[in-house]
Amino acid sequence: MKRPERPGSAPGSDLHPDTLAVGFGYDPETAYGAVKPPIVLSSTFAYPSAAAAKAVHEAYFDGPSPERDAPYIYARLDHPGLSLLQKRLAVLDGAEDAAAFASGMAAISATMLAHLKPGDSVIHTTPLYGGTHGLLYGPLAGLGIKAVPIADGLSEESVAKAAEVARQHGPIALIHVESPANPTAGIADIEMIAEFADELARRQEKRPVISVDNTFLGSLLQQPLKHGADLCITSLTKYAAGHSDLLGGCLTGSLERVGPVRMLRTLLGTHMDPFTSWLLLRSLETYPLRNGRANANAGAIAAFLRDHPKVESVTYLGFLDEGSPAKAVYDRQCGGAGSTFSFSIKGGEAEAFAMLDRLKVFRMAVSLGGTESLICHSASTTHYLVPAEIRREVGVTDSSLRISVGIEHPDDLIADLAQALDAIR
Ligand SMILES: *Cc1c(COP(=O)(O)O)cnc(C)c1O
Repeated sequence: MKRPERPGSAPGSDLHPDTLAVGFGYDPETAYGAVKPPIVLSSTFAYPSAAAAKAVHEAYFDGPSPERDAPYIYARLDHPGLSLLQKRLAVLDGAEDAAAFASGMAAISATMLAHLKPGDSVIHTTPLYGGTHGLLYGPLAGLGIKAVPIADGLSEESVAKAAEVARQHGPIALIHVESPANPTAGIADIEMIAEFADELARRQEKRPVISVDNTFLGSLLQQPLKHGADLCITSLTKYAAGHSDLLGGCLTGSLERVGPVRMLRTLLGTHMDPFTSWLLLRSLETYPLRNGRANANAGAIAAFLRDHPKVESVTYLGFLDEGSPAKAVYDRQCGGAGSTFSFSIKGGEAEAFAMLDRLKVFRMAVSLGGTESLICHSASTTHYLVPAEIRREVGVTDSSLRISVGIEHPDDLIADLAQALDAIR
């Protein structure tokens, strides 16, 4: 299978995401006329001559854009399914380049390792995804990299305060943002943070790189690169794959920022394999459809819960207070509220468990973004390792439940929640 040579034969990047997700970057003429891209499982690729082999290696290791324009070498470096998937992920994120990984954490760890060195510091929004927190405060701290939390991602003063502390340790090489955060739905202002980074560049040798974990909304509802982020990281395991049957991660950004991370991915061996790449290409085709349905379902369920007498509160982005700073940034930065949110019922763990055990349609599981609706008791599952006082700070109480709304019929989902809430006296 050759790479497409006729740029006019595949759809252009100016089309709607719904169209790009189906066909962008693939030309059937490169694969026997097959309407769908084949799975190429080969671990290695043959050269027509010794000189061609040398040229391929030169292009990969010394070329401006590794993997993209050179023929294939070995599947850990790149393979046909991976390069097609990366083209599609890049166009959906509005990015110049993309690198796909074996999981979201593989993308996060490679990004951090490529952009941080001993003596550097990182500032980050809070709360962080558990794996990211574990990486920063475990292995990366062990390498002499200092992480400092930003108390409020909407306040420049708060960002400056974290930077002040971090700079006592060493230059700030990375600002890592998770917005909206899990499970608080806390919003960070990416544009404000990018301006802060510009300012910081005048006081230290290099401008910090800004990475945004966009897993909670995904590329269809938020495009961090358009708001000043240098790198956008997404766990494809969630909305993009969307069927809770694979793990994957993605990094998008400029060639200059993504390139070193991709080179490190080759050394770490955390690329995405051919079969998973193919499954993801298949998943992406229905991503806009699934996303639209799940978001509409989530809006209906959030409204049902807000009005229910046994529900204490609902943390849904669609309910942000008019006139609040979070709402202003949300309106500017996000294209919708997504389909994962938290709510608290009246009572404590016993009431929460009684309700959970009565559910029939919702499945009790962690993770999010699948076709099926999921629910979990955050304090005893996703936030099990988080100390109680920090759980309280981030709003995870004994009665907090997180739901990821799927694409089932909304009436069935609401009826299921209604009958389960009846279990609470
Ligand atoms: C799930 C998740 C990750 C990690 O992704 P994996 O594919 O599980 O490695 C990172 N960040 C956020 C916000 C997530 O929800």
